[in-house]
Amino acid sequence: MGTLLEPKLPDAGLAGSYINGAWHWPADGRTITIENPSRRAPICDVGRGTSAEVDLAVQAARAAQPAWRSLAAAERGKLLTELGRRLEENAEEVARVLAAESGNAIKTQSRGEAMGAAGVLKYYGGVAVEQKGETLPLGPGLLSYSTREPHGVVGSIIPWNSPLQLGCVKISMALSTGNCLVLKPAEDAPLAILKLVELADGLFPPGVFNVVTGLGEEAGAAIANHPGIDKVSFTGSSEVGKLIGHAAADRIAKLTLELGGKSPTIVFPDAIANGRLDSAAQQVANAMRFARQGQSCTAGSRLFVHKDIWDALMPTVAEKSAALKVGDALDPDVDMGAVVNSERYGEIRAYVAEAQAEGATFLIGEVPEEEPAGFTPNPTIITGVDNDWRIAREEVFGPVMVAIPFEDEAEVIEMANDTHYGLAAFLFTHDISRITRLTRAIDAGWIQVNQGGGQIPGMSYGGTKQSGMGSEYSIEGALEAYTYRKCVTINIEDGA
Ligand code: NAD
Repeated sequence: MGTLLEPKLPDAGLAGSYINGAWHWPADGRTITIENPSRRAPICDVGRGTSAEVDLAVQAARAAQPAWRSLAAAERGKLLTELGRRLEENAEEVARVLAAESGNAIKTQSRGEAMGAAGVLKYYGGVAVEQKGETLPLGPGLLSYSTREPHGVVGSIIPWNSPLQLGCVKISMALSTGNCLVLKPAEDAPLAILKLVELADGLFPPGVFNVVTGLGEEAGAAIANHPGIDKVSFTGSSEVGKLIGHAAADRIAKLTLELGGKSPTIVFPDAIANGRLDSAAQQVANAMRFARQGQSCTAGSRLFVHKDIWDALMPTVAEKSAALKVGDALDPDVDMGAVVNSERYGEIRAYVAEAQAEGATFLIGEVPEEEPAGFTPNPTIITGVDNDWRIAREEVFGPVMVAIPFEDEAEVIEMANDTHYGLAAFLFTHDISRITRLTRAIDAGWIQVNQGGGQIPGMSYGGTKQSGMGSEYSIEGALEAYTYRKCVTINIEDGA
């Protein structure tokens, strides 16, 4: 084991909500204890904000919004760029906090997330000026044009699996377009966001960027239902996404949902031809997101391998996946950390136990019945599974992948699309005609070919089917989701 890195926590006295440019403890003094899942030990307490804090934050955001929207987009962009710069400068410190609370290894995940989040802020900072409207030539005497207008106050709710990245996406999209924001981080992992707030303190005018820490059914539900929130932007499970959608529909609040997935990874024989076995197997293993304990919405968690290469590919994929060093997320040598809490560990274990009872075979891994010292299951690949088993259909959100052989293209397209989800897909083939056919046929918002990388600022990202609505990571996504088009038609008087 390497020497464990230690996080420098947000100042404990400051670790409540951040409202109207100041730290705020809930009036009733209630707190939530944040735990380190790698060590199963408490880290610190944060305020348990409720509808009272959400209400204060919404009032502050509403008061700040007229001035914020009137600021030139380029000026708003400059502030986002500056926040990105500050985050980059403090990335190591923020990454340690992130690793401690989320269980995502500092080496493979949390450092990259901190830098990626800074990149998102800088991207939106740069493109904030690109908020163009339309004009139509209507002949002399008439001028018609449209502008992009912010919705007003955005309420964003995010999960714990990549909180900093997702938080920075929400901040960037809302603020660059002239909206003010009330952000609720997940109760398991709000600390990296609070570190970000420390970095942002004093940067934006008070009320523009507010954070309320609290539970989903309290602070989260208060955001979803608040009449002063014009747009709700939610990232999390499809189950909670449906509740949020109902609440937003009641007042026609605008809505973006980034939800769960059960993404297919499909490997054709030519992918491993010409000496590519090793590199293809590595990319397949990356696509499965074992290094994030499988706790990634885009995890390629259903691996479909052509029957002709099953025997050649599977041992190498298994070897690469099993080679990940599992342990404390703050150990600089560890590749794969801990799943976020005991409840999640139990859920993962239950899926595996059910598959085992149905007769599945374990190619690698196990999820021990006894919870380990940290919630650190090993990478697990299960075979002998049908595509209609629960473990192949539902989002396990742990390092548990199913591998299923296929015979031909038509069969694998049918299996890949036989799901309620449509978030991501990974194709492994070098046949351009096949790539074109499959990228057209597969229901997914994001398809990667011969690689298993992360989201790219500038490229739209979002799911179809029950994986969500709307898209993020691009200025086009921000404009569609965080503004409305206002059309103006002017009858120009003849000045002659
Ligand atoms: P979750 O839905 O349980 O929680 C997400 C957030 O919603 C948390 O902040 C939580 O406090 C809040 N919440 C919970 N109940 C609520 C309620 N009744 N009203 C309002 N808010 C409520 O999700 P999770 O388990 O924390 O995160 C994992 C899920 O997120 C997975 O399904 C994963 O696929 C999904 N996810 C999707 C994306 C994407 O971009 N599509 C990215 C990351 C994670």
